[in-house]
Amino acid sequence: MALGNNSSILNASPASPSGCNLCLFQAGEMIFTEGSAADKAYIIESGLVEIFVGSDTTSVRLSVLGVGDIFGEMGLIDSSPRSASARAITQCYCVVMGAAQIAERIASSSPVVQLLLSILLHRNRAYNQYLKNCANVSSLSLSKPFRLDQGTAEQQKYKAVLDSIKLESDLQNAVQGEELLLYYQPLLNLSQGTLVGFEALLRWQSPSRGMVSPLTFIALAEETSLIVPIGFWILERAFADLQRFQDHLALSRQRTSALFVSVNISVRQFQEPDFLAQLLDLTERYGIAPKQIKLEVTERIFLDEVEAVATINQCRKSGFEVSLDDFGTGYSSLNYLERCEIDSLKIDQSFTQKLGKSERAKILVGSIIEISQKLGLPTVGEGIETPDQMATLQELGCDIGQGYLLGKPVAFSSALLLLDHHNR
Ligand code: C2E
Ligand code: CA
Ligand code: CA
Repeated sequence: MALGNNSSILNASPASPSGCNLCLFQAGEMIFTEGSAADKAYIIESGLVEIFVGSDTTSVRLSVLGVGDIFGEMGLIDSSPRSASARAITQCYCVVMGAAQIAERIASSSPVVQLLLSILLHRNRAYNQYLKNCANVSSLSLSKPFRLDQGTAEQQKYKAVLDSIKLESDLQNAVQGEELLLYYQPLLNLSQGTLVGFEALLRWQSPSRGMVSPLTFIALAEETSLIVPIGFWILERAFADLQRFQDHLALSRQRTSALFVSVNISVRQFQEPDFLAQLLDLTERYGIAPKQIKLEVTERIFLDEVEAVATINQCRKSGFEVSLDDFGTGYSSLNYLERCEIDSLKIDQSFTQKLGKSERAKILVGSIIEISQKLGLPTVGEGIETPDQMATLQELGCDIGQGYLLGKPVAFSSALLLLDHHNR
């Protein structure tokens, strides 16, 4: 950076933001020049600064900035050389922002924000270049367009971001265009072999992408506000389908009250102030008893532990059951069991699938079941794929089983057939 002779960096004055350095520039002094390395950005505290491209004889003024304006930030965002020069028009004081300050914030921002910034920077630089070329009429041309297909790691990262932006807009259409559906996976009582409930699992039948797994899009929906309408749709669909399951059982004179549906609930849904009111409204509309709905939550729900415990308690007070999903995969599973009352516990499939191969896994699963029994919590063993795994879970006293061996997730009409088959 080319600082003029009279510039000086002062300690923060009482009027300036604490911890910031103030820099003084005299009228006419260069603050930085085009092409130089970018190591600082500035916020103008007093005075005027001009930003220009080109040399003194053929320069083009891009803007005149005053109090509160920021300049010099472009090169810091993507570590590129300055694409324009800055000069004090009057004497001015500027707050200096160091490269690290900006780099940290950019690095911790969403990849979408990073991509948008890059595109804006590119456009801005192209425009600066264009104006500079206009001044040099001999070489009037726009710089190359921003390209995403050059195969560098950076470009690949941006392509992934673009893909996720596209996925998000498709998903938005999916909610409106009735492309979402719920599949149902049976849950069996492991000692009696009866079907006691289903887990509702989301599917997206996309016209362009085919059947999309929730693993591809749930996280994205959670990052955006999309999970709220999607989550509400899931709940309403699950209640409506449970009513249809009940009607079906009633028609064939089978017991209806014990059948339950487990619904996966995302953190964001749980944080919605009217979440419980919505649940209660759905129980009335579809004639469902709250205990027939199990809310499956993962430990991520405890990100804000106080809030989560309060909402869980409210839901349980109203009769809904709460099941802790993927148990054993988090950092402090046992900690949450101590702090929060829940109704059942789902042993993560990674444990189930090691049963029969690893004696240690058997010891761990046995211990989880023993702790649960002492706490009076039924356990659900997830991801049962082999008869061996099922036999071990039965031997260890696991109450309910779920897995491909017992039944894959299926559409509602096939789930009805399963109900008939198991309760014959
Ligand atoms: P999860 O809640 O742990 O659901 C169990 C997942 O394991 C399901 O995958 C299910 O199809 C799969 N699974 C069941 N049995 C077996 C088995 O024997 N072997 C193997 N390998 N897998 C088995 P799916 O349907 O792809 O869902 C994946 C995850 O997406 C779910 O994991 C859940 O976290 C999320 N998800 C699914 N539906 C919803 C939903 O409606 N709302 C929310 N918020 N998340 C959902
Ligand atoms: Ca689940
Ligand atoms: Ca699970």
